[in-house]
Amino acid sequence: MLDLASLTDFLSQPRKVVITTHHKPDGDAMGSSLGMYNYLIQQGHHAKVITPTDYPDFLTWMPGNEEVIIFTENQELSAQLVAEAEIIFCLDFNSLNRINELGELVRASNAYKVMIDHHLEPEDFDDYRHWDIKACAAAQLVYTFIADQLNNKALINKDVATCLYTGIMTDSGSFRLPNTTSEVHRIAAELIDAGANNSRIHELVYNSASENRLRFLGYCLANCLEILPEYNTAIIAVSKQDIQRFDVNTGDTEGIVNYALSIASIRLAAFIVDRSEKVKLSLRSKDEFPANEICKKYFAGGGHRNAAGGQSDESLEATVEKFKSILPSYKKLLIQ
Ligand code: 5GP
Ligand code: MN
Repeated sequence: MLDLASLTDFLSQPRKVVITTHHKPDGDAMGSSLGMYNYLIQQGHHAKVITPTDYPDFLTWMPGNEEVIIFTENQELSAQLVAEAEIIFCLDFNSLNRINELGELVRASNAYKVMIDHHLEPEDFDDYRHWDIKACAAAQLVYTFIADQLNNKALINKDVATCLYTGIMTDSGSFRLPNTTSEVHRIAAELIDAGANNSRIHELVYNSASENRLRFLGYCLANCLEILPEYNTAIIAVSKQDIQRFDVNTGDTEGIVNYALSIASIRLAAFIVDRSEKVKLSLRSKDEFPANEICKKYFAGGGHRNAAGGQSDESLEATVEKFKSILPSYKKLLIQ
């Protein structure tokens, strides 16, 4: 274990740093990682962001993006950087299986491991932890790590602020979800003062879809949405053929599940998609309903109470049936 004083001391001279984040990075994963990257390079650290997989096009505009290494496309270089790293920042995840094959390389590395995260039940692989499940985004914790723990608010420049704002905006559902506290708004205000262009960031993330993506969304809502009124549950199930037909790319499915949750009576929404290698589930819920419990217990996944994910090795049809078969045991929570 490292205490804050030793960590601060360790970072007081240039280090070889790897920053990594979870499988299929989202806005918070990339915002946290590139925010940390843009902070560290100002101090002369040799920092590299390595993502386990690719990520959506609507996140490729952030400062530092051109330096990101995608593990699946650069395995040898990634392995070398992890092996040579002196310190590894693990952002927006807390269990090494969330970074696929990269996880074992990180585990085997002699580097100090710093976890900055807001998910439940962290695995014990780190040397320093800045972890708070009440945080709306890992990017919020990267902000408090830099500003409060390292006492380096002055280094939150426009690039850092832009990335961290993106992480907070996306993970808080554009400052809408219940974890969007007054403190989150205060941090967002600081980031805007530091140079983050909030309106432009919103445009780049949310108004940059392809025509295909919108047609695919329309198709999902018109053809794949099933409502189970007796369980206040909605399911959108998408086949492999649909994915091919609409040429669906990484990120194109993001957020579709929220449309199912937007129906007043619906308390639980599932987006279930056949991704060839496996069937992936995205669950969203309202209020106290524990979507993460279903993902953890039945679909080898996890997440937050109101936003969770998992997977299944069975067919799409079998996965949908399995999901439906679980609902009776949650009926009380669903129909209240
Ligand atoms: P999404 O539905 O957007 O893929 O994921 C929503 C949230 O669920 C993520 O922020 C992440 O916390 C969690 N999540 C998604 N997939 C998995 C998974 O396979 N395993 C775990 N442990 N969490 C997941
Ligand atoms: Mn997050």
